[in-house]
Amino acid sequence: MHFGIQNILFIIALGATGFFAFKKFSSIIRNIQRGKSLDRNNNFGQRINTLVRVALGQSKMVTRPIAGVMHIFVYVGFVVINLEILEIITDGILGTHRAFNFLGPIYNILINSFEILAVLVILGCVVFLARRNVVKLKRLNMKELLGWPRNDANIILTIEILLMSAFLTMNAADWYLSTQMNEWPHIIKNFHIEHYAHSGVQKEAFLISPWLSGWMPNNLTYVMYIERFCWWFHIIGVFGFILYLPNSKHLHILFSFPNVFYSNLEEKGKFTNLESVTNEVKAMFDPSFVPPTDGTPGRFGAKDVEDLTWKQLLDAYTCTECGRCTSSCPANQTGKLLSPRKIMMDTRDRLEEIGKGIDKDGNDFKDEKSLLHDYISPEELWACTSCNACVQACPVNIDPLSIIIDLRRYLVMEESAPPSALANVFANIENNGAPWQFSPVDRLNWATED
Ligand code: SF4
Ligand code: SF4
Repeated sequence: MHFGIQNILFIIALGATGFFAFKKFSSIIRNIQRGKSLDRNNNFGQRINTLVRVALGQSKMVTRPIAGVMHIFVYVGFVVINLEILEIITDGILGTHRAFNFLGPIYNILINSFEILAVLVILGCVVFLARRNVVKLKRLNMKELLGWPRNDANIILTIEILLMSAFLTMNAADWYLSTQMNEWPHIIKNFHIEHYAHSGVQKEAFLISPWLSGWMPNNLTYVMYIERFCWWFHIIGVFGFILYLPNSKHLHILFSFPNVFYSNLEEKGKFTNLESVTNEVKAMFDPSFVPPTDGTPGRFGAKDVEDLTWKQLLDAYTCTECGRCTSSCPANQTGKLLSPRKIMMDTRDRLEEIGKGIDKDGNDFKDEKSLLHDYISPEELWACTSCNACVQACPVNIDPLSIIIDLRRYLVMEESAPPSALANVFANIENNGAPWQFSPVDRLNWATED
């Protein structure tokens, strides 16, 4: 163990990362809590089953095999290699070197698995980058991805490749050092790195590193600098990744689990009743009925993000922008303006806008904008056939249709602005009690003899 200036710097970086990450995640949770209440605590067993199948088992990802398998590499690699971070943090705080080496054979298995997974993660990221930038897959190059969303995807894939490369290079340098150091006692003395030589890193603990170490320089001092540089690069990269995550679509690596757990378990196509409408009807039939109220006037449908439920807002933060929903959407395929992915991206952008306003002006923040009209147009909404293909395709059980329906309800009931084709239907229902343009008295004419 050798506690020094490096460890002090590490503890400062760790504390700063924890502080800023806590701040950002708290504001995201606050934003989600601005949504309307919704009880999704029923059917615990079925929810766990869905979580295991869809989130952990990636069952909807593998319906597209290439992306599915590559995503499993990156996902498993990300989860498992993060165990290595625990060791790095322990070393960083205590000044130890490879603190978990005491695990012996288990450590060997872990390190070898990490190294294999790191190579698979690099492979997955390279394939993903190629699909976006070389093959230019249509769903990954649509207009809603222009600018920041495309850069976001490229940035994070590049960061992952760099982190995994640093991890492998660090191991290679470490392996080289542990096999050579006893022959270089003056370096140990000059750099006070006895803990390296005596860390007892087992040669068989590395599978890929011995091969990579062939590229190490002969001078052991340089190798030591390479190991330190990669160690710092890796951990600072991880800290940067943690701070970057809440501002990126890659938030799904955390949010997809709760989002899938709280999925809508009802049959697809079953619409919810609006409580505000139910209360109106009850009040019409029973003048003594007093609707429950929280002090705000009830709204029919949704105009802005705060009219949506917390689950719809969690959906928006969980969206990976993969576009599977949009590529399955019949409206989009036939050239309509609608893209369910854009509905989710707009919802998140609007919520973030309100969140930033609250950070600045407090809870009373108000602006003149709304999700409907400023972000999503009626033309997009009315292009939806409510087929549920987007809901079925989403690998993390997001429900763009529910947002579309709620915004439409507002258009119809609060703005009286249905599309003209529906206006006739509504008029018929009002006058004839049916969508058709026939008088109710003629309804049974079809059954007469002549
Ligand atoms: S429900 Fe609407 S948005 Fe979703 S796939 Fe069908 S048409 Fe597209
Ligand atoms: S809603 Fe689901 S399918 Fe659509 S882009 Fe987001 S994560 Fe992908």
